[in-house]
Order: sequence, then structure tokens, then C-alpha cells
Amino acid sequence: MDIDYVSTTCPYCGTGCGFNLVVRNGKVFDVGHWQRAPVNGGKLCPKGRYAHEFINSPDRLTKPLIKKDGTFVEATWDEAYNLIAEKFGSYKPAEMACLSSARTSNEENYLMQKFARAALKTPNIDHCARLCHSSTVAGLAAVFGSGAMTNSIKDIADSRCIFVLGSNTFEQHPLIARSIVRAKQNGAKVIVADPRYTPTARQADLYMPFVSGTDVAILNGLMQEIIRNGWEDKKFITHRTKDYEKLKEVVMKEAYSLENVSKISGIPAESLKQAAEWIATADVAALIYSMGITQHTTGVDNVKSTANLMMLTGNLGKPGSGVNPLRGQNNVQGACDMGALPNVYSGYQKVTDEETRKKMMEMWSVDDLAEGRVGYTVTEMINVLADKPGEIKAMYIMGENPMLSDPDLQHVEEALRNLEFLVVQDIFMTETGELADVVLPAACYAEKDGTQTNTERRVQRWRKAQDPPGEAKPDWQILCELAAKMGYEKQFTFESPEAVFNEVAAVTPSYHGMSYARLDPDGLHWPCPTAEHPGTAILHRETFAMPDGLGVFSPIEWKPAAEVPDAEYPFVLTTGRTIWQWHTGTMTRRSWSLEKEAPIGWIEINPEDAEELGIKDDEVVRASTRRGSVDIPAKVTDEIIKGVMFIPFHYKEHPANRLTHNALDPIAKIPEFKACAVKVEKIAEV
Ligand code: SF4
Repeated sequence: MDIDYVSTTCPYCGTGCGFNLVVRNGKVFDVGHWQRAPVNGGKLCPKGRYAHEFINSPDRLTKPLIKKDGTFVEATWDEAYNLIAEKFGSYKPAEMACLSSARTSNEENYLMQKFARAALKTPNIDHCARLCHSSTVAGLAAVFGSGAMTNSIKDIADSRCIFVLGSNTFEQHPLIARSIVRAKQNGAKVIVADPRYTPTARQADLYMPFVSGTDVAILNGLMQEIIRNGWEDKKFITHRTKDYEKLKEVVMKEAYSLENVSKISGIPAESLKQAAEWIATADVAALIYSMGITQHTTGVDNVKSTANLMMLTGNLGKPGSGVNPLRGQNNVQGACDMGALPNVYSGYQKVTDEETRKKMMEMWSVDDLAEGRVGYTVTEMINVLADKPGEIKAMYIMGENPMLSDPDLQHVEEALRNLEFLVVQDIFMTETGELADVVLPAACYAEKDGTQTNTERRVQRWRKAQDPPGEAKPDWQILCELAAKMGYEKQFTFESPEAVFNEVAAVTPSYHGMSYARLDPDGLHWPCPTAEHPGTAILHRETFAMPDGLGVFSPIEWKPAAEVPDAEYPFVLTTGRTIWQWHTGTMTRRSWSLEKEAPIGWIEINPEDAEELGIKDDEVVRASTRRGSVDIPAKVTDEIIKGVMFIPFHYKEHPANRLTHNALDPIAKIPEFKACAVKVEKIAEV
């Protein structure tokens, strides 16, 4: 028996754990522990442990498909490429849009944005970071000059106080939670604020349940208490920041007294007081957040407020401190780094900067790059498709499934059906693929080389363990072949992902010093500007990445969610994930070890609310918002605060996003997944 062990990086969350794919006779059949893995030291959560199970699923796409008379018919690659090239060639650049993918490698994201900009000449390129952490990128860039996690995962263990806000770390980033456990074992205080009593909340020394959408009020209240007690870090404020007086003017308002914040958020004033004291007086404190903070119409405000708190207490630029957004998808950090965003090239170089555009045109040997215009975000693309039919006519979607992942699904379907031509490239047929004119079969993470960048900015390798099924090809190869069909062979001549990475390093300042050789064995944290540079685990040690080196305090007033409960829709609906499933379930729902643990969706209801509604545990109820209804089993539990309901968003049978609201943050254009108004009713017996 021929058994091989191929070390690679997990395709699920942004933690970036390493493991061995175990290969027998050329086929992956198991995941083995890789003790040397830099992030996780061989430990894995259930998703990583069973990350082999979907790879050889009989459902994998194996041939290109072209829709004829409403039915998919198998086609050759040449037929598919010729049709796509002909169609794309018939549209004006502004009539096309591309979605890249946080599930694919850095190299593939780089090529997708290059394909959009250099071959299609369209500025309309984005990906699902828009739906999870675009407010992090915008918010932290505005205050620190860099929109990424400031510290490393390992570093969290050195903290003396950890404030977890809007992150269920123990379920969603379990191997990062190990650092919280280590800190706790060393005596650190752990504060968790969440509307649900999650596995993370159970580890807290202080748990603060609160009404979703009140984060800015809570953070302002904590800052007022810190300033009132003189606990602010005066030296840090003086030497490292600006606009402190402007911040003070807002947070010291009566509106943010502990009593008022308690009324807004539902957190007892005593708890807020305790939290303020622990955060401000700890030797070093870290703040961890995730989509509970970002997925709001005030997402950027929320992010800036977390930064305000940590600057106020001097908790930046040193071990155990920092503002630490935990990124969702395995490579959402990398997809942003690679410029799969409508306003920047790789390394966050602005498309509107004429010098940068000239540099990119020269590097890519093209004479135009979408005229330096900022394109539409994915949320704007959907709105334009729905509201201005004909403005965008064709789309190319790689590895994304907006028909389940985006808010207000009925609206999304209406929008996508307005397209004249849709190409979907994926490893399985998805709800979005069903609407496509052409479906291209792609290789999964185990079937190609590449790199991905985890939440702590560590760039690590993927290694090919088996061949793709049937005629499926790696995304990077499909993009190069399609570009060649469209007349851009010279710009897309890459023989391997490593060759693509070398171009990434050449054009991206924060990746300049990286190469595949240097990524072994531990990866490298960006910024890594030169071939000798060791990488940067902790950002902002001496100065912030701003022209004057100073962090910027942002005075932020609390604003309620775009849609608040009323007499007709009296509860707040919030959504999230479970440890057993992943996003739209394309991979985990084909992993039997995971699927059997959580095969159906549910709605969590507080026992007092359930009693008032006459609802029993396990009863199927109807949850409705202004966008639609879902019939779904009730889970009556005191682990959710009264007045708030929760639905996991993985299940096509119980699609939470049929209910969610597509109101957007005005800057980041992220939708408000975490708070909308909902009603829940008994279903009348027939
Ligand atoms: Fe994979 Fe994330 Fe689990 Fe690590 S914590 S094994 S990266 S899903």
C-alpha cells in the first residue's frame, strides 16, 4: 500500500491550522495531525479533522456544463471557453462584474482581479469579505492605517485581560480559543459580551448579555467610565495618537453614562463598571471581535470604537494587546490582500492613484486598467442588477454562493435572474450555479498548490495531494486559459502557482520579501518588505501606518440598527454559525461526520418569549420579516437573551438569509446580518 502524508492548510476558517492529508494510491482518504504546524501544533477542531470527507464526494463537478433550453449539457473545455470569451467580448467593461473567492488561494484571487481589470477592463470586482469584514478593512485602515489584526494568535496567550465582543471564538475559531485558555490559565480575566450564552461566554469571568446592535453605546460607556476614573493611558494618548479631545467630547456625554448604556444594551451597570476596570487596569489587554461587530449598518463605527477603547488604554503595539478581528473564511485576509476588492490592487494600493495604476499597467503589459475607477461592491452589484436591469449584463462568479450567503435572498434571486450571462466556477453545483449559463468544474484545496493568508496575516502553503476529479481544473489554470482565449495569453502565462506568487511578491509591497522557499516551514506575517525581513507578527510597535505615524481617535455616536422591533415584528433576529457547519454548507454538508451532528437549522428562542408565544421546544414555527418567511424548528433555550432570536445561516432548507435585511453600512457596504426585526408564530394546524 502506497501511503503519503502531504502537509497543507485547513480550507475552513481564518485560523489557518495546518494538517497532513493522508493519501493512499493517489487519493486523499484521511486527515492526520501535523505536530509541526505553526498555528495549531497538530490540534484540530472537528471541521479540520474531517476536512478530507468532501474531497472525493460523488457530487463533485467533473465537466464543464453549458445550459441549453434550460438544461445543463456537458461540454468540452474549449466549447465552454469559446462561449465565455465570445459573450464577455460582446459586452462593454462596465456591463460585466466578477466575484472572487475567499475559499481559493492568494494566487487565484490575484489572477481573478487581474482578469477583471486587465482582460475585461471592468472595475467591478469584489468577494465575500464584503459580507464579513469589509468594515474591519475600512475602519482599522482609517484609524491605524492598516485594516488587519494587529497582533498574532500566539500573542493572545500573553494577555492579562481579554475582551471578546461579537465573537463566539470557542466555536468559530476553536484553535484561537486555545490562546484564550492559556491566558486564563496564567490568570488573565476574560470578558465576553454576546446576546447568546455561547461556549465562549461559558469561559468568561464576566459575561455580559446584550441586545444586538448596541456595541457603540457599550464601548462609549466603557470609555466614559475609564476616563472618569483616570484609568486612560495618558502617555500613549499624548505620544501615539491624535484627536483625543474630540473623542472625549462624545464619550463623556450623559447619553453614555453607565446607567443610560445599561438601558440601551441591557447590560447591568455594575458589569460595565467591572469590565471597564479590568480592561483599563490590566498590565496588557487584548480585544477580540468578529462578525458580531462588523455585520451592521454601523459596522465601520463599531470597528473604530473598538480601536478607540484600545488606544485609550494604550493596548497597541505590544505583546498580548491589540485589536484582533478574527477573519471568517480560510483566505478572506488573502483575498483582500490580493486586491479582490473594487477600490484597491494587491497590497491595498488604491486604484485611483495614478502612479499606482501606471505601475500596474506596466507590470501587466496592458494599456488600460478600468480607467482607475472604483467598481461596485458585491452588495451594490446585487442592488444594481435588481433596480437598474441592463446596467450589469454578465457576471463571472468564482467559488461563491450568493444565493445562500447574501441578505434578502428573494432580492438576490431576482437580481441574478436579470443577468444575460452568468458563469459560475465551483467544486460543487450550488444554488447560484443552478442559475448559471455556464458552470466550470474547479479543483479543491487538496488538488492544487498555492498559498493562503490567515487572520493574523500569516501566509502559508497549500500543497497538492491528489489530482482533481474528472476534467476539473485549478481556478488559477482556468483563469489563465480563459484569459488566453480572450487575447491575454502574454499577461497570463504562468506555469505554476509559484510563478503567480512571484508576480504577487513583485507588485505587492507588503509581500515583497516572500517566496515559496521562505514560507517553509512556519509561513511569514506581512508586512515582509525584503527578502531578509523576518515578517511582522505585531503591528504598530513604534508608530501607526499613517503619514504622521499617529493613531486617530474617532468620536462616534451610537445609532440603532436600521430596522428595530415594532408592534408587528417585535423581536431582534441575529444570525451566525455552528461549529459543525461552514457557511453555505457546500463542503460540510457533504462531510458525513459533520453533517450528522447538525443536519437541520433551528431558531433559538428565550423561554419567556416562547411561553408568551405559546411555543414549545422542537415545534416547527414560522419566522417572518418584511422580506419573507421560514418554517423552522424552535430551540427554546435560556442561552439567548429575551427579545432576541438566532438562526444559523448554513441551511438551504431553513435559509436565514431569506429573512435578513440588506441595509448597508454607508462606507463598507456591509449588510446588517446581525440585527433585523422578526416575528415568530405558531403554524396553524390543518
Ligand atoms: Fe480549520 Fe479553523 Fe478548525 Fe483550525 S480552527 S481546524 S483552521 S476550521
